[in-house]
Amino acid sequence: MRGRELRGELDAFLGEHEQDLVEFRRDLHRYPELAFAEYRTTQRIADRLGAAGLLPSVLPRGTGLICDVGSGDGPTVALRADIDALGLQDEKEVSYRSTVPGSCHACGHDVHTTILLGTSLFLAQQAAAGLLPGRVRLIFQPAEELPGGALEVMAHGGITGVDRIFGLHCDPRLDVGHVGLKPGPITSACDKLVVRVSGPGGHTARPHLTADLVFALAKVLTELPAALSRRVDPRSSLSLVWGKVEAGSAANAIPDDGVAEGTVRCLDENAWHAAPDLIKALLDSVAGAYGIEAQMEYVRGVPPVVNDEMSVEMLAEAAQRALGPGSVAPTQQSLGGEDFAWYLESVPGAFARLGTRSPGGETYDIHQGTFDVDESAIGMGVRLMAATALTALWESSPVTATDPITSLA
Ligand SMILES: [Zn+2]
Ligand SMILES: [Zn+2]
Repeated sequence: MRGRELRGELDAFLGEHEQDLVEFRRDLHRYPELAFAEYRTTQRIADRLGAAGLLPSVLPRGTGLICDVGSGDGPTVALRADIDALGLQDEKEVSYRSTVPGSCHACGHDVHTTILLGTSLFLAQQAAAGLLPGRVRLIFQPAEELPGGALEVMAHGGITGVDRIFGLHCDPRLDVGHVGLKPGPITSACDKLVVRVSGPGGHTARPHLTADLVFALAKVLTELPAALSRRVDPRSSLSLVWGKVEAGSAANAIPDDGVAEGTVRCLDENAWHAAPDLIKALLDSVAGAYGIEAQMEYVRGVPPVVNDEMSVEMLAEAAQRALGPGSVAPTQQSLGGEDFAWYLESVPGAFARLGTRSPGGETYDIHQGTFDVDESAIGMGVRLMAATALTALWESSPVTATDPITSLA
């Protein structure tokens, strides 16, 4: 089966399964589970895959699973969905509203999970009919929001032997039926920085006998971001912004310690890797100039998701095949983080934005208690993911007489 038949096969599959998938999503939405506690969710997915004759393998912690479809011959393409919910209150008035206080699928991971389940069932049918020219690895990843679930998957061999990997995220700013694509970086890095300073305190009448710690801390607060902006390529948009500072307790006493906390955001992967050492060197030099001790705690978040160009082309071809011409829209790099980035440090691949807004409807942003999707996005997502996996397998297999691209004409 090649390009032209695919659309008809997907129509037939979704005609039979789409309503069931919507119900599956609503069930997950009613029972959201936070990072590394997705036991029920994992069981639901495993049950459905098992019923389709697949052999899911649950990760050792008991949340998240991996499952291969197809034979070991030919290339391996991975598809990833994140399955965890967020710790915030569901504010929607819908029949499938969260039943768990303070927990909600407000980032659309219930939708991602359902899309990958539907894709799995479709690909299992294809494999049974001998139409899968390779292997597809399904990754139902726990704990994206923590983040860290991607590292858990990788630690257990989740992307070993994988040639290419794809994922997607709901985009409430894009109408349903559209796919936002961008080669290169599409999300950003965000890390946390804590600086603790200390030095001899004393009376404000005699600052010269102390380290004049509040003044020195103020120098750190202003000079560190300023020096940083002069030491890295401005295109990397590496920025340090403070959000919290504490020192002292009285107007006339110089304290002997203080602390400042902030975030480091970055659009560029190389600059992100270099950031901790650079910030430490700048901190030491400012602290040395004012005679204080400075310690830095640098808490890594995630790197930027950097899309591989060829993988983005495969997504674009797949979108045109499965959703029709005009379905692809350019998208911007966001300042948000996404732990799919960890996979792309090891394997080429790409991350797409899937339109979830009802045309003409309101935009309900993610990470809000009011977030919801136009559920026709589930069928669109299945079309996109299934077509992407097949496109990637076709294009990694030896070219045959019926080239998949020319058969589109
Ligand atoms: Zn999120
Ligand atoms: Zn998310």
